[in-house]
This record gives sequence, structure tokens and C-alpha cells, in this order.
Amino acid sequence: MPSPSDEPTPPAGVPAELATELSQCTPDELRNAIIYAQELLQFHHETASPVEPGPNEEILRATKRDGYTEVVKRTTCTEGCDDCPHGPYLYHVKEESRPEGGKRVHWMFLGDVYSDDE
Ligand SMILES: [Zn+2]
Repeated sequence: MPSPSDEPTPPAGVPAELATELSQCTPDELRNAIIYAQELLQFHHETASPVEPGPNEEILRATKRDGYTEVVKRTTCTEGCDDCPHGPYLYHVKEESRPEGGKRVHWMFLGDVYSDDE
């Protein structure tokens, strides 16, 4: 069992009840929840979020804006250092179509975020 301190905190904007439900789901249930969420996004004619947290990243907030997604992210070094965790930092994430087809996700770093809830 993962220790409670390793448990990710849900990004702002996830309803508390849903976050509680999800945190109790099995990996299989989570995989199916993702599929269901993507189907619901398509139903609302929305694209899936280009934002996926890496192994040492914590997404605090992802907000869709006109043409980009505003993301607040915190990162932790793999080695660990005295300053960890780093951030939160603000990014604008854009999906760009490549001329050869497909898409690439472009992260633009905007700076530190000083949140008032920490
Ligand atoms: Zn660090």
C-alpha cells in the first residue's frame, strides 16, 4: 500500500466528493474512469487535457482558457534536495499542430505562483 504522504492531492476544480471516490478506486477502475471522462469530454465537444503530470510533478490546477491551458505545477527532484518541492510555477500549455501531422504539446514557463492557500 502506498503511504498516505505519497498520496497526490487533487487539483483545484475537482469536486471533493469525486476526489474522495477516485482516491478509493482500484487501478482498473481508474483506467475506466479516465476513458469515461474522455468520452464525456467528447460529448461536450471538448478535447482531452494535454496536461499529464510526470512522476515527480504535481498538478495543482489546470484551467482551460481561450487557446491554451493554464497550469499550476509543483515539481520534486528525483534525488531530493533542500529546496523541494519547487514551485508552484505557472505555465501556459498549448497544443500545436505539426506540419508533418500530429500534435506537440508546448509548455511555456511564466513564473512563480504565490498561492494564498499555502
Ligand atoms: Zn529539489
